Amino acid sequence: MSFPGLRFKQVIVSSSGHASTQQEQESSRRSKSKFGCRDCKAKRVKCDGAYPTCMRCQRQGLVCLSYPRLTQWQVETPWLSLQPNKLVNRRLLRYWLEKVSQTLVIDPENNPFSFPALEYIAQSSALLHAIQSLSASHEQYFPANTPVIALEERGKAISCLRKEMDQSHHTPHAFFLTVMLLALAQGADSDTKDYGKQHLFAARALINSMLQGTSALTNNEPVFRLCLGMYLYWDMCSSFLVDSWEPQGLNLFNISIAVHRMGDWHHPMYGTCTGLVFIIANVGRYCRQILDSPQNRNLMQEAVLEDQLTTWKTSPQNPGLGHLYEAFRNHGLIFLYRARAHAQSSHLTDPDSSEAQESLIQQYAEETVGHLMQIPATSYYLNFQSLPLLAAGSELTESNNFLRDQVRDRLRAIYSLNRLPANLLALQLLEELWDARDSGNPSFWLPHMLQQDWRLLLG
Ligand SMILES: [Zn+2]
Ligand SMILES: [Zn+2]
Repeated sequence: MSFPGLRFKQVIVSSSGHASTQQEQESSRRSKSKFGCRDCKAKRVKCDGAYPTCMRCQRQGLVCLSYPRLTQWQVETPWLSLQPNKLVNRRLLRYWLEKVSQTLVIDPENNPFSFPALEYIAQSSALLHAIQSLSASHEQYFPANTPVIALEERGKAISCLRKEMDQSHHTPHAFFLTVMLLALAQGADSDTKDYGKQHLFAARALINSMLQGTSALTNNEPVFRLCLGMYLYWDMCSSFLVDSWEPQGLNLFNISIAVHRMGDWHHPMYGTCTGLVFIIANVGRYCRQILDSPQNRNLMQEAVLEDQLTTWKTSPQNPGLGHLYEAFRNHGLIFLYRARAHAQSSHLTDPDSSEAQESLIQQYAEETVGHLMQIPATSYYLNFQSLPLLAAGSELTESNNFLRDQVRDRLRAIYSLNRLPANLLALQLLEELWDARDSGNPSFWLPHMLQQDWRLLLG
């Protein structure tokens, strides 16, 4: 199921005043850059302008930095005119519509974060400022010194959000989207310790309140499902970053009922794998818990999680999504087995069974990378790969040098697309983990990352 009435093409008005057709947009999206990428331009060589990584950068294993290039149409929507003109930065908004919002979905033609989100802007200045803040940072590749305009917009977003939440309880969806974008902006900041924890907890509180009462549990509204799915995806990418002693603020029972009701519903961020995303979020939470206190292993819970992962099923819309889902599933299994092996390592275990476990992890790691490489680097599915790339990638041995190279290239391509510095930091972690493994001291990526006091939000 897609988002009827929430389609990208319906509301575009070109500068000439004519509504542009789908073909026109297709061709503008595929059009080559007039200028080429930064590196090609600096070396004064011809650039094929492929997006997100040009051929030359790809061959040389470089990060490809492109110039922002926007088409000439203007944003004309009835909703936008409801916001006072002085608050709206049209350039940043257009940049959001054309670039940033497109990195949040698997299909640009079904993107609730682009034009449909503008409808909420009319009701919420907080959302407008959150969007403008994220655009301003993305445009500059999230530099170590966050651009002043991005900080200003973020400050305004937070103060507007407080006011709006006090005044109104009717737009939890706009609040939710604002909070998620603020978390993304925070997670992309130079502070590698902060994954946007406060915003994650705010989102959990919002989800809990949306789920309160029986009406919400039977809620079939697409916007509610959209928010729940966004939350679940975000939770999958951060549940293992939350300290296990911290009160989690989750109503897992209500969430699991809602996930069950969502079933195979097609979510714009990840398709029909809602159930799998929820299981992996729980795997991450469990793994962090036994990492912090190995004595709290719960064999029953491990067996349930393993069974849920192996038996989960859906019918992917196309082979690419099928590969993405299998990579997610394998990632969940690797995560669970590795955390279990880590917890076992403190006391003696049967060498035969631990050897079998190691070779199983190896097999899943190779399969995960194999699945992801079946998806072309030009695909919109690129953005959703960095977490399995880190987890599975870290298990690759020296004899898998070819696969390691593919992981390197893929993380650079993802960075070229979404510009989140966490992708390059993940690559740095991988190089360290590979060096350690090659010198006979393999280690688990999660404690390795936490020891460095890094909490990377990947995905
Ligand atoms: Zn180039
Ligand atoms: Zn390039």
